[in-house]
Amino acid sequence: MKRLFEAQKRKERTLHRRDALKLIGLGSAGLMTGGSISAQAETSLSVPSSKKKAKIIIAGGGTGGITVAARLRRSVPNAQITLIAPNETHLYQSGQVFVAAGLYSEFDNKRATEDILPDGVKWLQEKITAFDPDNHRVHTEKSGELSYDYLVVALGCEYDFSAIEGINAEDIGKEGIASVYLNDTLKGISPGALITKLWFESIRRNAAKRPQNVLLCEPDTPVKGEGVSFDMLFLCNDILRGNGVRKGEDLHQNVHFTLTKPGHTLFPSKPIADTLQKEMKKAGNTETKFSHRLLAVNKSRKTAEFEVDGKRVEYSYDYLHITPPMRAPEVVQNSPLAIKEGRLKGWMEVDSATLQHPKYPDVFGIGDVLGLSSGKSGGAVREQAILIQDNLAAFLEKKTLPIHYNGYSVSPIKTRYGRVLLAEYDNHGLAPTFPLDPTVPRWIWWEMDLHLMRAAYFGLMMRGML
Ligand SMILES: Cc1cc2nc3c(=O)[nH]c(=O)nc-3n(C[C@H](O)[C@H](O)[C@H](O)COP(=O)(O)OP(=O)(O)OC[C@H]3O[C@@H](n4cnc5c(N)ncnc54)[C@H](O)[C@@H]3O)c2cc1C
Repeated sequence: MKRLFEAQKRKERTLHRRDALKLIGLGSAGLMTGGSISAQAETSLSVPSSKKKAKIIIAGGGTGGITVAARLRRSVPNAQITLIAPNETHLYQSGQVFVAAGLYSEFDNKRATEDILPDGVKWLQEKITAFDPDNHRVHTEKSGELSYDYLVVALGCEYDFSAIEGINAEDIGKEGIASVYLNDTLKGISPGALITKLWFESIRRNAAKRPQNVLLCEPDTPVKGEGVSFDMLFLCNDILRGNGVRKGEDLHQNVHFTLTKPGHTLFPSKPIADTLQKEMKKAGNTETKFSHRLLAVNKSRKTAEFEVDGKRVEYSYDYLHITPPMRAPEVVQNSPLAIKEGRLKGWMEVDSATLQHPKYPDVFGIGDVLGLSSGKSGGAVREQAILIQDNLAAFLEKKTLPIHYNGYSVSPIKTRYGRVLLAEYDNHGLAPTFPLDPTVPRWIWWEMDLHLMRAAYFGLMMRGML
């Protein structure tokens, strides 16, 4: 494993320079993961905003934890920063879709946490077991009680497959059931990606023999990677058309896709939803069912049961893709940091503009763990990290917080091999980084997503430079 990581690091160093140049050449640093608040942010890559000394704990070593650690090293250089996360391996989760598509290997998406940990940040490789914000403390598995002056919570979210009656995470990969989401950020593994690759192949094999019904279900909880069900549907259909990694005859007429959504819209942004609607219609073999809440799966009968407007309906399937119900990690749900009531109960409470906890202003949150109505994505994390870099430094100086989060998020939706619809949106609607019509799927966004994003993620974003 160590040797593989070394080889990957060497590859990355070579890639990094070339890709950074490409990024600059294409002016794409903003596009990678958005750039909407960057204009507001007077962030500098090197000038500190506060020279105060402080003890900062960052909880979590995923996208948010690492990038915010790198940024705080610059904005509060005299602070003692400790990152607490158990994962030896860091996952680039967006890449799971490209593993399923047969374009990345699983290993391409992994790095050793110690290799991407920013210099000067102390890493405690263990789990946080409790938050005690009234006493400025966190409790951990091995080190016990640790005190902080400021805390940044970046614990991501957990999957809750067993909220669906009749299945649990162990069923993914069996009996025609897949979920590209299936991963474990604590262990640094992502079996769902390869399972979904095999699932695509199996659908194609069986479509050559007889008609197939494919059901893709979304939960009624907030989800990360909002466009991922569309990726699955469109890529699978393109593979059936014979346009995937392996070319072949067109079998797509033999497969019917049904996408179930808990709400009434295809996507949070209406213009993007309209494009998706057109793409679904163009495909000719898809339908969407709104207001459907998945209740149960019967694996042996291959049926899925839904609640629709108070009634129960059942559909049979040959293949099922599940976007799992998601929730904040238990340690957050059971803490004073959680939202106590309503649809977002259990997720971390923050002010939607400043990302500070309303009761504990020395606690900030970032990423998927947040109880916000905006999208959960790496792009959102990038914007939030810039905000925390500047706002936490300003808070230390007792100044007004300079940046407000506007709900920016991004989904690079793969409408087929070679085309991405770059859905960038915020609380006000579409938020394109580039002066190109954002409702059009384009090859250039596919090329960026496939060839540059991962290198930009590890080489720039994890260093707090994107
Ligand atoms: C299949 C898939 C496709 C996606 N596609 C895209 C995309 O194309 N574009 C995009 O922008 N985003 C995409 N995303 C979403 C993106 O990956 C996440 O939004 C992003 O990684 C969130 O970062 P985070 O830091 O909040 O959480 P994570 O990166 O998940 O990190 C959470 C961290 O918390 C740690 N942790 C958990 N519990 C504890 C504990 N008790 N104590 C200490 N540490 C703990 C974990 O070990 C982990 O290191 C996708 C996600 C998936 C799964």
